[in-house]
Amino acid sequence: MKYAMITGGSRGIGRAIALRIARQGYHVVINYRSNSDAANEVVKMIEEEGGQASLLQFDVANKEEVRKAISSWHESHDGQCIEILVNNAGIRKDNLMVWMTDEEWDDVLDIHLGGFFTVTTEVLKKMIRNKYGRIVNVVSLSGIKGMAGQTNYSAAKAGVIAASKSLAQEISRKNITVNCVAPGFIKTEMTEDIDEAQWKTFIPARRFGTADEVASVVDFLCKKEASYITGEVISVNGGLYT
Ligand code: NAP
Repeated sequence: MKYAMITGGSRGIGRAIALRIARQGYHVVINYRSNSDAANEVVKMIEEEGGQASLLQFDVANKEEVRKAISSWHESHDGQCIEILVNNAGIRKDNLMVWMTDEEWDDVLDIHLGGFFTVTTEVLKKMIRNKYGRIVNVVSLSGIKGMAGQTNYSAAKAGVIAASKSLAQEISRKNITVNCVAPGFIKTEMTEDIDEAQWKTFIPARRFGTADEVASVVDFLCKKEASYITGEVISVNGGLYT
């Protein structure tokens, strides 16, 4: 059995990615933080399609929790390796920088940038030994061009982009690729409070994207044939930024 891990796989973009990667024949390990009903629903959806999935609950920002959960997964799956890692878990805590609290800054940085570091290092050693891997990090338009009200989120996503480019150079020769997918405005619970009617006028495609439109790009980057693409950032944003 080949394994893939998707952080924040219980809802939104992560759920769409989990469904697609399961169709590639992978057993998908779905991470989530607290919404176990949503996470169980994804497992059910994958099983109904004839695929395999299981849950691994941890908070990506909690280093101890991440290391404990992933190392006990490795212990109970002797000789097995996670071939695909998608770092997707995320939150928004928007505020103008002048009003931003330490908590808003730290929480966003800890989940996106800290989570990327802790989860990836925990998976990477076995991936390197296995001499094969696909790592995809879900970043954001905000991490490329910046967005007012999102200094915390932009900094975190830009950090993940830069770290991905460096990591790609460190491990390309081990047959492991590291890429980023940068969505624009995508219809999920994360963007429920954003008025599509108002914002779509700025988007050349004149609509928000769907989670599956992001997932299809992640799915491709996770395939064997995407072997010569690494250190890249692919935007999925309806032409909002070029
Ligand atoms: P979403 O619908 O709110 O789902 C977020 C997912 O992340 C949930 O599965 C949630 O788990 C999980 N999560 C949150 N904090 C976590 C933590 N500390 N540890 C583990 N899991 C955690 O969000 P989404 O829109 O799908 O966003 C997915 C990714 O795309 C994020 O990285 C986001 O920054 C990025 N993105 C989204 C958009 C957009 O327009 N939606 C645009 C650009 C980038 P629970 O179910 O347990 O809460």
